[in-house]
Amino acid sequence: MEQLAADLESMRYARQLKLLGEQGQRALKDAAVMVAGIGGLGGTAALYLAAAGVGKLILAHEGVIAEPDLNRQILMDSGHLGMERMSTAIAHLQRLNPHVEIEGYNARVEYPAAKPWVEEADIVIDARYDFPERYALNRLCVDTGTPMVEAAMYGFEVSLTTMIPGVTPCLECLYPDLQPQWEPLGFPVLGATSGIAGCLAALEAVKWITGVGTTYAGVMHRFSSLDFACYSVTITRNPGCACCGEGGTP
Ligand SMILES: [Zn+2]
Repeated sequence: MEQLAADLESMRYARQLKLLGEQGQRALKDAAVMVAGIGGLGGTAALYLAAAGVGKLILAHEGVIAEPDLNRQILMDSGHLGMERMSTAIAHLQRLNPHVEIEGYNARVEYPAAKPWVEEADIVIDARYDFPERYALNRLCVDTGTPMVEAAMYGFEVSLTTMIPGVTPCLECLYPDLQPQWEPLGFPVLGATSGIAGCLAALEAVKWITGVGTTYAGVMHRFSSLDFACYSVTITRNPGCACCGEGGTP
């Protein structure tokens, strides 16, 4: 019976086994990925990670589904307006792939309360729009030595890098101070653009876990989804960073 279940699962991944190999697929099955935020960006990432057969997803996002979410939050639907976002997302993901274990928290990412979720993960995807939560998540990743895919979008722009504690800059190296103009609510977003960012974040996690390809560690990639104008810059650590540097206060 166990063999039958394993055969059925390998049939599900037949097309990607050609790319990842059995070893890569096994690594995905053994891995846990935390996706902080399951909106347009994180929801898309979670969907593709579930489809790819990641063993465990740890999800965090507080709140209920509202009408303006539905232009981009593809784990949600019109039939669940006003209902909890997390339970809707879990049900959707389990319909897609019942082999994935999902742990979901209808909660904000806060320091240090969210530490056990980060500790459990092999890699974290930061898909929060809320900067206090991004900073908390960054600090937890630095504390626990967990790599974090930092994916973001604004309008038609997408940016992406992977932060590895002790190796690459952390979020606070790049943005030492919380800026009041980063107030997130109401920023412009088209679902296709946040979906591209989510797909790239999911792919980055798959690359990290399986060892296939090259990750974005240490480089910030940015491009416009309107005309594909893109550029990449090498980013460096700030030795005085209050989070990961000598002046750090973990
Ligand atoms: Zn830092």
